[in-house]
Amino acid sequence: MYSTMQDVPLLVSRLLRHGSTVHGDSPVVTWTGDGARRRSYGETGARCAQLAHALRDELRIQDGDRVATLMWNNAEHLEAYFAVPSMGAVLHTLNLRLPPEQLAWVVNHAADRVVLVNGTLLPLLAPLLPKLGSVEHVVVVGQGDTSVLDGCRPAVHDYEELLADRPTEYPWPHLPETTAAALCYTSGTTGDPKGVVYSHRSIYLHSLHVNTVEAMALSSADLAVPVVPMFHVNAWGLPHAAFLGGVGLLMPDRFLQPGPLADMIEAERPTYAAAVPTIWQGLLGELAARPRDISSLRRVTIGGSACPPSLMREFQERHGVTVEHAWGMTETSPLGSYAHPPRGLTGEEAWPYRVSQGRFPASVEPRLIGPDGTEQPWDGVGTGELEVRGPWIAGAYYGGPDAGPDRPADRFSPDGWLRTGDVGTITADGYLTITDRAKDVIKSGGEWISSVELENHLMAHPGVAEAAVVAVPDEVWGERPLAAVVLTPQDTAAAAGTGTTDRGPAGSTEPGALRSFLAERVPRWQLPERWTTIDEVPKTSVGKFDKKLLRARHAAGELD
Ligand code: ADP
Repeated sequence: MYSTMQDVPLLVSRLLRHGSTVHGDSPVVTWTGDGARRRSYGETGARCAQLAHALRDELRIQDGDRVATLMWNNAEHLEAYFAVPSMGAVLHTLNLRLPPEQLAWVVNHAADRVVLVNGTLLPLLAPLLPKLGSVEHVVVVGQGDTSVLDGCRPAVHDYEELLADRPTEYPWPHLPETTAAALCYTSGTTGDPKGVVYSHRSIYLHSLHVNTVEAMALSSADLAVPVVPMFHVNAWGLPHAAFLGGVGLLMPDRFLQPGPLADMIEAERPTYAAAVPTIWQGLLGELAARPRDISSLRRVTIGGSACPPSLMREFQERHGVTVEHAWGMTETSPLGSYAHPPRGLTGEEAWPYRVSQGRFPASVEPRLIGPDGTEQPWDGVGTGELEVRGPWIAGAYYGGPDAGPDRPADRFSPDGWLRTGDVGTITADGYLTITDRAKDVIKSGGEWISSVELENHLMAHPGVAEAAVVAVPDEVWGERPLAAVVLTPQDTAAAAGTGTTDRGPAGSTEPGALRSFLAERVPRWQLPERWTTIDEVPKTSVGKFDKKLLRARHAAGELD
């Protein structure tokens, strides 16, 4: 029997039309460093039409062509987010923190025809242009030194000149909903970056989920700050979801350091923000050193790597901000699971649920596969690699212009589930705890030690600003943990004998003391024997601890 429902495709242009009409007054605020520029969703919609006309009529962009952005989070990037997919082309958001050779690799792999680039990022793009064979047009957005483009092969355009005087309506095409809409590459911490191609349908369904009470639950009463870059998995779906619900957007542009972020929050009074843990750790330090009024912030979503429980508590207790923990990947659009406590639980009883990675929505189906290949029970004990499937989960990687979809066996099971590379448990009521990434777990004498658990305990020590624990080879046990610790500024000074600390005598952050601190919290056989103090934990291009680099530094004898 057939349903009698209309078969209407789920398209990004529908989000755009809805947001720019029904929520035409909602604001897009872009921070300028000492103030803000403002546009409405209605104006954004008109400028999206102008951009689409410019791309189609002047730059001759066809359906399926890739249009890349090398941009900060700002109003113009938002315009590209909606205009490019809505007209039938594919938006490729470039990670501006990738090493230059990887950046060139992804542009060539995607065969981008156009790059929209913020003027301040021209020094990054210009030296790469001779290597970017597919790029025909460079569109410069905002101020910058365009002389670095002198003599370059692609044609150079100014964004505002390109849009000027074009029609403010566009006949957005009726595309099949499975058409490619956006392309993101993983940050390539292991091997070459891998391309994930989102469809109109996957973006639409993901946006619906972002705005539910199971996830970010945003509404037109909110002003949201996507601190997470727009090149990092579509800023976690926030721009698209914002247009669905008329959520105001505060765009930080390039002002992502803790000081400017605190200023922006104080001045513009957002209600909600989203970023990886390292950003929030930085903001807490900034606020302790120079208090600002961040009382408008009600909730923040932290994800992208495990959020230390101590960070969540500090935000709650010092600033009254509720931290919501979420798990996801480039391959999962990214929202996989989201940690809201069960109904009715508040206060201390809610904490074990809040610090977990949370529950999956109906559209993301999980399973845990143990080392012997069997599915593990949901009992909070059975441990295995997390596999997921659903309508916004990747089923393959982009193989390049001349290749078909790529489904490496280590990333996709024979029956099509995504192998996440994350190891964890799920409770009977569906709460996921990620104990580690499979490649970061420490395999000591046949037992597994969770690097994340050791780090979370260490970062709860008042003298520790950051801690990363990595596996290092050991003759007896195979692998053992090495703890690389960043002390807080006072404790660094105290340990060097040049300052004092109000957290006990200097030396309380000596390895012996930290080891005793850990010994009260984890089994003795998990305690690291190797300790090193470092100035900063190296970070990946999306702000996560770069454990691969730490392991390499240890192998090179730099961490002893
Ligand atoms: P990359 O793999 O290139 O670093 P992603 O942003 O796609 O980029 O990273 C996804 C990975 O980040 C997940 O597989 C997981 O290991 C980690 N991750 C994301 N969110 C969390 C979280 N809340 N807790 C623990 N790990 C997380």
